[in-house]
Amino acid sequence: PEFEGPTVFGHPKGLMTLFFTEMWERFSYYGMRALLILFMTKTIADGGLGFDDTTSGAIYGLYTMGVYLLALPGGWLADRLFGLKKSVWYGGIIIAIGHFMMAVPGVAAWINGAHEAKTELSTLDTSTFFLGLILIVLGTGLLKPNISSIVGQLYPKGSTKRDAGFSIFYMGINLGGFIAPIACGTLATYDMHLGFGLAGFGMVLGLIQYKLTAKNIEGYGEAPVVEIPSEVERQKKLKSSVTWIGVGLVAILAVLFMGVIPINVSAIAGASGTVIALVAFGYLGYVIAFGGLSKMDKNKVGVIAILFLFSAMFWSGFEQAGSTLNLFGERFTDRTVLGWEIPASYFQSINSLFIIIFAPFFGALWVWLGRRNLEPSSPLKFTFGLLLLGLGFFVMYFAAKIAASGELAAPTWLIMTYMLHTFGELSLSPVGLSLVTKLAPNGYGGQMMGIWFLSVALGNLIAGLIAGEASGGSEEALANMPDQYLLIVYTVVGSAVLLFLLKPVIRKMMGEVH
Ligand code: GLN
Repeated sequence: PEFEGPTVFGHPKGLMTLFFTEMWERFSYYGMRALLILFMTKTIADGGLGFDDTTSGAIYGLYTMGVYLLALPGGWLADRLFGLKKSVWYGGIIIAIGHFMMAVPGVAAWINGAHEAKTELSTLDTSTFFLGLILIVLGTGLLKPNISSIVGQLYPKGSTKRDAGFSIFYMGINLGGFIAPIACGTLATYDMHLGFGLAGFGMVLGLIQYKLTAKNIEGYGEAPVVEIPSEVERQKKLKSSVTWIGVGLVAILAVLFMGVIPINVSAIAGASGTVIALVAFGYLGYVIAFGGLSKMDKNKVGVIAILFLFSAMFWSGFEQAGSTLNLFGERFTDRTVLGWEIPASYFQSINSLFIIIFAPFFGALWVWLGRRNLEPSSPLKFTFGLLLLGLGFFVMYFAAKIAASGELAAPTWLIMTYMLHTFGELSLSPVGLSLVTKLAPNGYGGQMMGIWFLSVALGNLIAGLIAGEASGGSEEALANMPDQYLLIVYTVVGSAVLLFLLKPVIRKMMGEVH
């Protein structure tokens, strides 16, 4: 047998524990995310925050960027200090508190019996909102990368079941992503804060499940063992300083975002993009120039640098699911079925549903093509991913024209776009991850994975910024909306063509890696 210890369906029993924990964590993430931009852009009288599109898009971008950015220190802290298992636990607790924080104004209104429509926001409304977002970012940074690492540890080196294990784990992600927008979205039709509360409740269920079945992952992801007394002392000090730095950071960010010190979120969002790109390319350039690598390894790091750009491009389009496209569903889609209005958030389930349906098909397709020696190379799969993304936005161009003419678009437009985008995700996302692990020179594995997360963070940020422009919030913006979608199509398809042209060079640089 490949594993020590108990198994279920031929996989280590620990996978079950991690599957459900991640399912509930993603339930909370996607349940809240489905409501986030709708909540920010809704008028105060309608129970929202009444922010304009630009501000909402910038906050959405910074938040989703933060979630992926914090995976870097999150992974580091688990390796050095807390261990993977404890990091998942504390991360989950912080996430749950974050969601509950966002639900507080709803509870307060209920206690005060204040049910009449609001005319302006109270400090409680904004402070709990921003504090909640900050906590979710921190908690997810601690949980998300580390739970995947424990999954990896369950399978001994060379195990043939590892990939299948990760596919099962990915199903858990999307099961959570499928149920949550429907569950949280339904409650949100009564009060948005109820939806946020349910997201937090889901995370709590995940935590309970994690504790109750902790036996299954015994011995995995433990904290690093230190025995030398001076080291023990140092660890302890480091732990308490990290905790205080965390608390300090939350306090500073909270004060900033609550507007105590006036800040311009759009300017911060714009600057963050530049900083991420500079850090990534500065780091990769440094490794190539001074890392003491062989010529072959330098080339491989070069490939990671090139694909970084295309990965950021892909996610900047794809992650508009929760921003631009979510607002399109809310504002310009005919959601009435048999006299009942479907909440816009339900559309956020579609991607996960299609992943569950089509992931096995894509897996089989690559195997089938592989047997005939026809499996596309990784750069080619990347190109397909970008093309499918562009095609999805081309569909949206027509939907936007209908909207600009003053009519509501049929839901089929969005559904078609999400389907094309899901196909793009299925051809690009798994390839990206495994390619990075294969291209990273010895001793650079973790760091290169961190760089990869940076490209996803950058993409998420840009997805928010685009939503600020392309969501048709004003009459002028609506008239421009079809052109905005067309611009996205040109950019994405243009990048796919560029990648296709670069393919021979990239394949040469990749050496023996496929
Ligand atoms: N939907 C997947 C998840 O939530 C992947 C998202 C991504 O990599 N941007 O884990």
